[in-house]
Amino acid sequence: MNNQLYGKLIFELSTPGRKGYSLPKSEVEAYALPSHLLRTEAAALPECDEMTVVRHYTNHSANNFGVNNGFYPLGSCTMKYNPVIDEETAALRGFSDLHPLQPAETCQGALEVYYRLQRALSSIAGLSEFTLNPFAGAHGELTGLMVIRAYHEERNEPQRRKVIVPDSAHGTNPASAAVCGLEVVEVRSRADGRVDVDHLRTLLDDSVAAMMMTNPNTLGLFECDIPEIARLVHDCGALMYYDGANLNPLLGVCRPGDMGFDVMHINLHKTFATPHGGGGPGSGPVGVRQGLEHLLPSPRVILEDGRYRIADEKEGIHIGAFLGNFAVAVRAYTYILSLGREHLRMVGPLATLNANYIKESLKDLYLLPIDTLCKHEFVFDGLRDKSTGVTTMDVAKRLLDYGYHAPTIYFPLLFHESLMIEPTESESLETLDAFIAVMRKIAAEAADDPDVVKGAPHHTPIGRVDDVLAAKSLKLTYKMLHD
Ligand SMILES: *Cc1c(COP(=O)(O)O)cnc(C)c1O
Repeated sequence: MNNQLYGKLIFELSTPGRKGYSLPKSEVEAYALPSHLLRTEAAALPECDEMTVVRHYTNHSANNFGVNNGFYPLGSCTMKYNPVIDEETAALRGFSDLHPLQPAETCQGALEVYYRLQRALSSIAGLSEFTLNPFAGAHGELTGLMVIRAYHEERNEPQRRKVIVPDSAHGTNPASAAVCGLEVVEVRSRADGRVDVDHLRTLLDDSVAAMMMTNPNTLGLFECDIPEIARLVHDCGALMYYDGANLNPLLGVCRPGDMGFDVMHINLHKTFATPHGGGGPGSGPVGVRQGLEHLLPSPRVILEDGRYRIADEKEGIHIGAFLGNFAVAVRAYTYILSLGREHLRMVGPLATLNANYIKESLKDLYLLPIDTLCKHEFVFDGLRDKSTGVTTMDVAKRLLDYGYHAPTIYFPLLFHESLMIEPTESESLETLDAFIAVMRKIAAEAADDPDVVKGAPHHTPIGRVDDVLAAKSLKLTYKMLHD
C-alpha cells in the first residue's frame, strides 16, 4: 500500500480546526460540574475529518492477522474458526440491547440462554454446577482457587495453603495461585512429559489445598495417571483442580468430573469458538462437583416455577463480575447447539488427527523430543539440524512471510527451542498440507540460505522487531512533538 495516510499515527494526521462530527443541539440543559473535575488545559486530541479516520483504521485493520485471514496454529490458544452464526445470534437485539439491571421478566430469553449454557457445561464436564461470571481463563482459575480456599476454611483447615502445579503448566496457574494468596509448589514431569507421581507423593501433606492439572497437558499429552493422582490428592484432604482452558480434545469423549476433579474452569473463548486474542473478550466459567455449589460466586441465574431469576445470595465467594461477558456465552451456546451432541464428539478426535498429521509430516526435519501420540497439540524443539544457527524465533518470523501466523514459541519452558503447534479441528486437509509444505521449505532454506530465515520477516509491514531494545526503552504513550 502506498498512500500518504499509510503507517502514520492518527495524531500525525491531525489538522487544527478540522472536524469529523456534527452534533445536534443538546436537548438536555447544561449543568455545572464541580470545579475540581474541570480540565485546566484542552485535551490533546487529534483533529481529523471522518474520511481520514475511516481510512486510517481501515488501513490498520488490514495489517491485522486473525483466524479469518489464515491459518493460526498458536499452540495452547485454540484459535479455531468462529462460525458466522455465532456472531449473528450474539448480535440479535434481544441479546445485545439489554441493560444488565433490567427486570428479569423483560429478559427471560436471555436468562434462559444463560441458564441452559450453565446446564450444558455441567453435563459436558460431569460436574454439578457452573458459574459463567469469570471474564477469562485466568479469572476462572482465581475464582476456582477462591472456592477451594473457602472450602478448607469452612472445614477449619485454613493451614492448607499450598497449590501443587506441574512444571509444564500454563503460566496462569502459578500466577492465579499466588494472586489468591496461596503458595505454589512445583511437581516435576517425567521424561515422557507426564506428571511424576513419585515426586508428587513426596509433596502431599495436610498443608496442601489443591493440585492443578491440565489434561491433555501443555505438551498435548494425555495424563494417564489421573485416577491414581486424584486418589492420592483426595486421601491427603486436598482438592483436584482442572484447567480446562482447552477442553477441545475431550469434548464429549470424557469428563473431568468422572476423572475425580472437584473444581474446574473452561475457556469459552477457546473451546467454543469466539474470536479472541489481543486481550478479549473472554469467558472462563467455573464448575464444581456436588457439595461445593454454595461456594460459587453470585449472582447466579436460577429457574424457579418455570421463570428465570437472577439470584444474589451472599453465601459464596465474591468476585464482583456480575454475570460475566454475556455475548461470549451466547456465542458458546450457539456453537454447542449448532454442533449438537453427535458432532461435538467429533471435535476432539478431529483436532487430535490434525495435530498428529502435522507432527508426523514434519518430525524428520523438526526435533520431536517426546515422540508419541499427541492430543490436540504438540511441541517441537526447533529444527533437527542445529548446525545452521537458525532458531525457533527465526522459523516463526519466516512463517509470517508466507502468510501464516506463527505457532506458540519458547513455551512450554521444558525445551530450549519450543515450537508449539495446535491446528484445531476446523482446518481442512488442504490447509494442513500447505502449512506442512511451507514448514519443509523453511527447513530447506535454513540449510541452503540461513540468512534469509534469520532476517525474516521480509514482506510484513514491520520487519524484525528488536525485542531487547523494545523492553529496555518501552514507549507506551504517544507524545506530540511541539516545535
Ligand atoms: C489460555 C489458557 C489459560 C488462560 O486463559 P485466559 O483466558 O487467557 O486467561 C489457562 N490455562 C491454559 C492451559 C490455557 O491455554
